Amino acid sequence: MTFGIDDLPVRDELRGKTPYGAPQLDVPVQLNTNENPYPLPEALVERIAERVREAARGLNRYPDRDAVELRTELAAYLTKTGHHPVTASHVWAANGSNEVIQQLLQTFGGPGRTAIGFEPSYSMHGLIARGTGTGWLSGPRNADFTIDVPAAVAAIAEHRPDVVFITSPNNPTGTAVGAEAVLALYEAAQAAKPSLVVVDEAYVEFSHRESLLPLIEGRPHLVVSRTMSKAFGAAGLRLGYLAAHPAVVDAVQLVRLPYHLSAVTQATALAALEHTDTLLGYVETLKAERDRLVTELRALDFEVTDSDANFVQFGRFEDSHAAWRRILDRGVLIRDNGVPGWLRVTAGTPAENDTFLDAVRELKKESG
Ligand code: PMP
Repeated sequence: MTFGIDDLPVRDELRGKTPYGAPQLDVPVQLNTNENPYPLPEALVERIAERVREAARGLNRYPDRDAVELRTELAAYLTKTGHHPVTASHVWAANGSNEVIQQLLQTFGGPGRTAIGFEPSYSMHGLIARGTGTGWLSGPRNADFTIDVPAAVAAIAEHRPDVVFITSPNNPTGTAVGAEAVLALYEAAQAAKPSLVVVDEAYVEFSHRESLLPLIEGRPHLVVSRTMSKAFGAAGLRLGYLAAHPAVVDAVQLVRLPYHLSAVTQATALAALEHTDTLLGYVETLKAERDRLVTELRALDFEVTDSDANFVQFGRFEDSHAAWRRILDRGVLIRDNGVPGWLRVTAGTPAENDTFLDAVRELKKESG
């Protein structure tokens, strides 16, 4: 027997667990991790090089610990697109929204506390909860993958979680959540505890609905988290951020590592924000491609969940993993999120989507 994790004195709650692991396979068409298929435009690549060169001259010093310039620009972006004015004091940034979520759980969760999410949803909420010693509760959804609001309100009242996650649009289903549902859950969470409600808007730029950002007004326990990994096409950059009452921004600073955002990251993100309009242009193309995937998959008689994101959940398969494998055999990597009967495909370029659609058409033919 080889020496492994369980032979180490790791924390009990980590025993027998597996790390987050979307397969990273070298196949021609990769539509599995909800990345943006468009490389950054050359003008932006040049601007990043310029900004990073400038930052490199100061790398003997620690970066701006509070990332003020970056938070100011993120606030300007949110103000312009989110229909609600915010300033740097409402905004906090970290290495991907995963780190934002981790900092929130370190601050508001932790040992002896619990968090709830409505599943199927983004699996990292539960995994980060575990990593921070926070108990995890799985709340219900309706058969059509919308949040079962009365059941969710009842679960919050019963379990009195310290943190409530609402993912809108939801991953992996694509389902957006309306303001009314968020407000009902927020009220329930305040009556029960009060607790922190985190609205994960990683995919909101692709939504038919507007951002829930305005809801932070007058609700100091509501946080909206965002990322530059999807709409900004910068998953490799690792830049996520949140908007909330300034007190929340002060609170997460109790747990953030000093200088957590490198000078290179700050410089790169600032360059990308200068090119917001071009990058949001790609979002429009991707929304149209997402809608095309929905239409064409429905025409092929698949069941398709309405999508407000840059991906589409479709089914149903008797054996979704076998179907995933057969699509992979045709050179197209999509995602089996472990939702029985369903698979998820990320909207790629028109050519990538055509290859994917050809692959599922053949799959349909084979299975009669
Ligand atoms: N939230 C949701 C709902 C996601 O799907 C993802 C990435 N797949 C993230 C957060 C994390 O993104 P990142 O850390 O790249 O910002």
